[in-house]
Amino acid sequence: MNAPAFVHADPAADAAALNARLQGRSAGDILAHAIGELFPGRIALVSSFGAEAAVLLHMVAQIDAKTPVLFLDTGKLFDETLAYRDELAARLKLSDLRVLRPDPKALAAQDEGGTLWFRDADACCRIRKVEPLQRGLAPFAAWINGRKRFQAATRHALPLVEADGAKLKFNPLADWGPAEIQAYFDRHDLPRHPLVAQGYPSIGCAPCTQPVAAGEDSRAGRWRGRDKTECGIHTITAITPSSLRTEE
Ligand code: SF4
Repeated sequence: MNAPAFVHADPAADAAALNARLQGRSAGDILAHAIGELFPGRIALVSSFGAEAAVLLHMVAQIDAKTPVLFLDTGKLFDETLAYRDELAARLKLSDLRVLRPDPKALAAQDEGGTLWFRDADACCRIRKVEPLQRGLAPFAAWINGRKRFQAATRHALPLVEADGAKLKFNPLADWGPAEIQAYFDRHDLPRHPLVAQGYPSIGCAPCTQPVAAGEDSRAGRWRGRDKTECGIHTITAITPSSLRTEE
């Protein structure tokens, strides 16, 4: 696959061009192109180490285990997620795992008692997820994540590549379904997050994640009963210097 000749003036146009170029390519091809050709040293994988995260982590590790992996430790995660993170990182030999945490000053000012999630979930996600991720992504021109169209009605139109402020965001598993994910786990003998067997097909922070019943969207247990479906890391656009982009 030849590297594109896009410049950094218009991330939306770059994303559109890449979407056209990458249609029909395998997730592994897309990742190899993004990591090895488009953004060498300037791209990170953002992983929740949740229910399906092992697939993308394994693919990236096969391409380059030194690829930075950003993990948001909100301070509200299940203990099982932290243990699973450590297990996968060791098994896949991930050598640049970066743990992003909330700013202690922001927590002291806005969430001293740790119950902001109940009073104002958007504000809680902002200080525990959105702002730490913005800081963690600052050195990078592009990032990779594991969202898929089947996961929720709000994700049905997910493209392979999208603009995120001045960065590009890759969704190489956008068109994967549950059967492909399971097959990948089986083929590579990857361990499942322990909460999957307890009815959690999508796993976020403990106070905001419940099991899901048969027939529900896989994300139906996230912020159940509340008017909220996303934490904000995929709905805001970060403003970063366009000079971080590559020119080819
Ligand atoms: Fe807070 Fe819940 Fe968002 Fe986690 S998912 S950051 S606990 S509101």
